[in-house]
Amino acid sequence: MNYKIIDIHTHAWPLKIAQKARENLESVFKITLAAEPTVDALIGFMDKNSIDISVVCSVATAPNKVKSINDWVFSIRSERIKVFCAFHPYDENWLNELQRIKEKGDGIKLQPEFQNFYVDDEKIYPIYEKIEEYGIPVLFHCGHELSGTMVVHSSPRSMRKVVDKFPHLKIIAAHFGGFRLWDEVEKFLLGTDVYMDTAFFFGYLPDEKIKKLIEFHSPDRILFGTDFPLIDQKKDIGFLKTLDISENLKEKILYSNAKNLLRL
Ligand SMILES: [Zn+2]
Repeated sequence: MNYKIIDIHTHAWPLKIAQKARENLESVFKITLAAEPTVDALIGFMDKNSIDISVVCSVATAPNKVKSINDWVFSIRSERIKVFCAFHPYDENWLNELQRIKEKGDGIKLQPEFQNFYVDDEKIYPIYEKIEEYGIPVLFHCGHELSGTMVVHSSPRSMRKVVDKFPHLKIIAAHFGGFRLWDEVEKFLLGTDVYMDTAFFFGYLPDEKIKKLIEFHSPDRILFGTDFPLIDQKKDIGFLKTLDISENLKEKILYSNAKNLLRL
């Protein structure tokens, strides 16, 4: 069956720093990227893999980088490219930036490992409160890093505290709730209202376990994501299409759930 597809989790960098970004990613994660980390390469792969829309997620590793990153992020937004903007909890201008994101973006990306904050740090709660009030989706990197992490700043257990405290905050817990922490995901996040994306999830557990986790979560709360260009989207699309779950659920994961979340 042919589905429309939205990829909720991709990355791209401005042309002039793409080569440096590529070198960084490849050395930190010890991988070879599937493509150049640029918007042009992303669109080329979207065409090749019949993906209608991709969401580019941008991370600011320091508070003073947020504004300039988002100036670029807003400029790439189009019919087929949606944007989860850079945002930093230690940015003293966070409220201004949140207003710009509300007007010109589609959501926020937070990376607790690279941004050095714990998701359940109560000092950040006023920020969550405002994001919740604005109705802006926020995608968190969750769980371990591909490179291995000493401290996990975004465990399923700590994410659950945020979910309970902010029931209307549109949280997307990347990597199906927590990379390599799926037993804990099962205990703390499965069946809650939290969105989970599928980036770096397929192939990391036996197929039966993946099927079970997907079928036990709310069918409206699972989003297809790939982390392109870390991988070619083709691999994960192929996996999902052949997974033994209903056609209706596949359609929701690949398209409808993200369409509703992004209000397209
Ligand atoms: Zn990512």
